[in-house]
Amino acid sequence: MNILITGAAGFLGSHLCDKLIADGHTIVGMDNFITGSPDNIAHLAGNDKFVFYKHDVSNYIFIPNKVDAVLHFASPASPNPQSPVAYFNLPIQTMKAGALGTHNTLGVAKAHQARYLLASTSEIYGDPTVHPQSEDYAGNVDPAGLRAVYDEAKRFAEALTLAYHRQHNVDTRIVRIFNTYGPRMDMEDGRALPNLLKQALLGQPLTVYGDGAQTRSFCYVDDLVDGIVRLLYSDEHMPVNIGNPVEMSIKEFAEIINNVTGNKAGITYVPDARSARDPQRRRPDITRARTLLGWEPQVSLEEGIEKTIPYFKSKLGLA
Ligand code: NAD
Ligand code: UDP
Repeated sequence: MNILITGAAGFLGSHLCDKLIADGHTIVGMDNFITGSPDNIAHLAGNDKFVFYKHDVSNYIFIPNKVDAVLHFASPASPNPQSPVAYFNLPIQTMKAGALGTHNTLGVAKAHQARYLLASTSEIYGDPTVHPQSEDYAGNVDPAGLRAVYDEAKRFAEALTLAYHRQHNVDTRIVRIFNTYGPRMDMEDGRALPNLLKQALLGQPLTVYGDGAQTRSFCYVDDLVDGIVRLLYSDEHMPVNIGNPVEMSIKEFAEIINNVTGNKAGITYVPDARSARDPQRRRPDITRARTLLGWEPQVSLEEGIEKTIPYFKSKLGLA
């Protein structure tokens, strides 16, 4: 297939480029570098299976060659306002990437009769009142809350994707991605793993927000990409959760990072820098991914952190 990937210079987009090229496909990468980096795709320069367009997906997209699949991953993704690339600090760009960007990429898929895959998020469940979260849970999102620019854009994107499927028969898929980590995460984007792993490698105390009792589950990027590619190759149109179901408190998460890195500086508890309601519990119910895609994460958190450390060390000049 010839596959358009938006957000190709981001963390997940760049790994998808690598995986799909390895599977024998050709890639049209698109990005405007608002939160991503050319460094993430520098290794693909000169590869005859990869072409790149610097373009904002909020504007009309024209792809001259036939496209067989479209993966829409372009969007700011970090909730930490201490970072300039957080969606809190890019509110209108975030809503445009989720709304106009989804409309434009669906238009490409319709024009090319291509299959389509939307990167949605566990954030569509908001601060969930149901636990774990299965795909039939409708969520608990405040449309006027600070996280709404991201959450509501993704909820709109899901609804638009299914509207194109139902009205225009576009061959769509929706993946709801839960917290994922690995090499090529932006060390400064303020998400939990980059913040805490950077602190640990520098021998600093890890900044846990609040009392650290809030929970997440963390999926290693190779597992996530495997699940997304299985969904792309499947015929499933309704949303599918992809994430690691091993749930832990953020305090436990920080302790694991300190153990794996040998950091002796401990944990410091600080007020939540995000000043918005932090989802208190999050864990994917992955029954649909297991049964429809035969997918199961393979990489433990300890292994995944080990695999991520060399990238962070090289970025920190410690390698
Ligand atoms: P990222 O910031 O590393 O990548 C996003 C990429 O999209 C960046 O390269 C950015 O420059 C690009 N982009 C943003 N707006 C754009 C626009 N208007 N036009 C063109 N390019 C644009 O983030 P990521 O973690 O790789 O996230 C990728 C996708 O996956 C996002 O849609 C995000 O919502 C979704 N997601 C990620 C996670 C996770 O844990 N990483 C969890 C849930 C959902
Ligand atoms: N977090 C933290 N310290 C940090 C960064 C994040 O304690 O330096 C916590 C944050 O409060 C949240 C969890 O880690 O409970 C995951 O945060 P992240 O920004 O990675 O993503 P979220 O799941 O909130 O979208």
